[in-house]
Amino acid sequence: MTRGATGLVFDIRGFSLHDGPGLRTTVFLKGCPLRCRWCCNPESQRAHPEAVWIAERCIGCNRCLEVCAARAIAPAADGGRRIDPGRCDACGRCVEACPGEALQIFGRRMTVEAVLAQVARDALYAEHSGGGLTLSGGEPLAQPEFALELLRRYRREEKGAHTAVETSGEADWEVLEALLPEVDLFLYDLKHPDPAAHRRLTGRGNERILENARRLADAGAELVIRMPLIEGENDDPRALGAAADFVASLRVVRRIDLLPYHRLGEPKYRRLGRRYRLEGKPAASPGRVEAARAFLAGCGFEVRIGG
Ligand code: SF4
Ligand code: SF4
Repeated sequence: MTRGATGLVFDIRGFSLHDGPGLRTTVFLKGCPLRCRWCCNPESQRAHPEAVWIAERCIGCNRCLEVCAARAIAPAADGGRRIDPGRCDACGRCVEACPGEALQIFGRRMTVEAVLAQVARDALYAEHSGGGLTLSGGEPLAQPEFALELLRRYRREEKGAHTAVETSGEADWEVLEALLPEVDLFLYDLKHPDPAAHRRLTGRGNERILENARRLADAGAELVIRMPLIEGENDDPRALGAAADFVASLRVVRRIDLLPYHRLGEPKYRRLGRRYRLEGKPAASPGRVEAARAFLAGCGFEVRIGG
């Protein structure tokens, strides 16, 4: 990677408690090869910056229309504003011009140095809590060189502080293999054990994901498995049983984190002008979550809700 190369980042959050041990800074990289139906961060999916219009804040002044040289933003039939992603180059002029802060750009190009400078603000807390840096997304493996350089430099500068990567595992093995020496913990998604169901729910099969999990385990990586829990999709005994069998076959995994489905991401789809494919589906019920927890605990795993 050339010095000064950039990655596409959509958020950096400090003091995270759920992305690995201790207090952590989580860097979210934008771009993901999957399209999980329940994804609560749709703004993380596309591998380019995106402008978003927020209806509740708009006062209808039309300044955005005046400043957009690309004519990418226009009044919509319902009185709102519609951004044409084919025309919008995320220049940010409308964001600057909007008096209501009703426009936002998701995703910005950042150098490794700029990210590390932000992460360094939390370094003291990370050090005293046994925390560190977590790369998340989107899918961090979709920007392999940037992710590797970030982790390598962080470890060097923070003298071996803890590193974690949250991943779907949907990448070439060579990408994971290169990251291995720089990662203390993989928070590894298992969305559905069946390839056809996985394809239906996420847009891709899980063959490479399962194979990568096995190769990581064989290579001695520390793994925590994360399972989103979607009622009626992957929380029945058959799916849970197959998932438990697979995880047990890895032989090194003790802990499974269950991530119950919620609907907090739904408004974001409207803002992005996309259809939410689980519209109307209720959030995971406590009874079903507890049944899944008990089932997996009965298979011998330490099970946490929410990680
Ligand atoms: S970000 Fe730029 S191109 Fe996109 S809608 Fe705003 S002004 Fe137009
Ligand atoms: S500039 Fe902002 S407040 Fe004015 S119409 Fe555009 S989005 Fe709405």
